[in-house]
This record gives sequence, structure tokens and C-alpha cells, in this order.
Amino acid sequence: DILVVGSINMDIINKVERHPSVGETISALETETGPGGKGANQAVAASRMGSQVTLAGAVGTDSYGEELLALLNGENVNTERIMVKEGLTGLAFITVNGAGHNHIIVSPGANEKLSEADLLPLMPELNQAKALIVQNEIPWAVSAYIIKEARARNVKVLVNPAPVEHFPVTILPSIDLLIVNQHESEALTGLQAKDHVQAVQAAQRLLDLGANAVVLTLGEQGVIYLDRNGEYFREAFQVSAVDTTAAGDTFIGALASSIVKGKATQEAVDWACAAAAICVTRKGAIPSIPYWEEVRALIEE
Ligand code: ADP
Repeated sequence: DILVVGSINMDIINKVERHPSVGETISALETETGPGGKGANQAVAASRMGSQVTLAGAVGTDSYGEELLALLNGENVNTERIMVKEGLTGLAFITVNGAGHNHIIVSPGANEKLSEADLLPLMPELNQAKALIVQNEIPWAVSAYIIKEARARNVKVLVNPAPVEHFPVTILPSIDLLIVNQHESEALTGLQAKDHVQAVQAAQRLLDLGANAVVLTLGEQGVIYLDRNGEYFREAFQVSAVDTTAAGDTFIGALASSIVKGKATQEAVDWACAAAAICVTRKGAIPSIPYWEEVRALIEE
């Protein structure tokens, strides 16, 4: 049902009392590894919501690559279109201090080695797909190519321009549904989106720039959906957040899954909000992503 073309990383997370200064060596309080990358997270989120998901991307020839492939298979994500590229898997080095503030260094590894030619075997899957999801953690030419092929086949194109640096706004008219958070929205429009009024203006600007529909997520304030027929605002579910990692990715995977199941846009946004709300009540990236039954339970509460 859903094709995700995007990044696959191993996250290496160090908890520290405080970040080191230049030239300083400190000891971590705790170190963990865990699967990550926006492509992998969004693919797992859609799969846990019950969709058939194919993830296309690349891992390296190191043991992290094998570990990630096994993990994604265990999540019912089709990994047949994940390439194994000589060298390192994508790595994200994350340091979190006592106040919960993080520093992140991403080493793109295999993600950066993906080429347009690597996607040629994907065309049969694309012919079958109802939706394509892409982010911005692989070479942009590869994402642009698959977007063009999806449009030619009338496959719904969902784009999450994250990270937003070097994202070309000229692609917006080719996007059926653009999903941005406040930071990405501001980077694309130059407009702040701190409150509801500002957010509607920013989303309107994104429509003016050519997007066909926009979802602007506002963290604990909720989310705005805007297309040329009007606006839908959904408040966030009231939960006690412990870790917002992967909230946006969970939102997008659940949104895509709901849309592909044929839910109307507003209902799909509600489900995505519920999924993301459960995600923020749990620690970690992929371990925090809920299953369909859990999301339904919150919706029906
Ligand atoms: P990102 O993770 O990309 O920065 P946001 O912070 O906007 O994106 O979060 C995405 C969605 O997750 C929000 O629209 C909201 O539905 C949900 N969410 C995020 N933080 C909270 C929270 N504290 N309480 C409830 N829902 C939240």
C-alpha cells in the first residue's frame, strides 16, 4: 500500500551530565543504540498501523546494517528494496544532557550513496502503491526522481522536508500533501508559526508556493490541515510527555496509513494525532511507536 523511500540509521545515544566543552573528554552516564532514520521510523509507524509497507533505502556492510534489516523485517516492513552498500550504515550520534537538551551529529553513510539507478527495480512496487512518503535525509535527486515517477502513476505523494536545509520549494506543486513542523514551516516560508493565527498564515503561504495540501504540526498545541477548500484544526491529545523523539515520524506514518485506508482527511489527522500522543508518553524512537489497537483505544476513549 505504502512505499517509503528514505533514510535508515543506527542511533548511538549517550546520556551525559553536561555536554563537553572543546578539547574536553567526559564519560557517558549511559549508552544505548537503537534503530532510527526518518525513513525507517515512518515505515515502522505505518506498518504498526496495519499498512503493507515497502521501505527503499540503503544500509552499509557493517553489522549495524544487518541488525537494522533484521529489525525492519521483524516489523513486517518489506526490506527487499533496501540496498547494501560497501561501507558504513548511516549513524546518528546523539548526546543528551541532564536537562534533556541534545546535540546530534548525523553521519549519512550508506544513505548518501543511494542513486536514481538504485530505484529502477522499485517501479513494480510503485505501480501497486497508493502512497509514497519521502523525507530529506537521502540525496535530493533520488527523492525528486521517485516523486516524479509517483506523480506519473497517480500515486499520492506525501513529503516531509526534514531536515529542511537545501529543500527546493520548486518541488511543492508536485506534492499532494506536505507535512512540516514549526521549524520546517518557518524555514520554507520565513513566517513564524508560534500560535494558531500565525500557523494558518504560514500554511497558506505554503499553498501559495504551490503545495496542494499542508499539514503543519504544532507540537503540544496540535496540528493544522489546510487545503484550498479550508482549514481543519485538531488539538493535541492531553498526555504527559516524557520523550518527543519520533513524534513527527509517528504522526506521518499513521497519517499515511489512515489516508491509504480511505479515511477522510480530518479523521486521518485525528488518528495521526492520537498515534503521536501515545509516542510522546514513551521513551525512544521506534520502541515508542504505537500499534493500531492502542491508537484505536485512545480515539474511542
Ligand atoms: P516534530 O516531532 O517533527 O518536531 P511536533 O513536535 O510538531 O513534530 O509533533 C508532531 C505531533 O505530535 C503534534 O502535531 C502532536 O499531534 C503530537 N505531539 C507532540 N508533542 C506532544 C505533546 N506534548 N502532547 C501531545 N501530543 C504531542
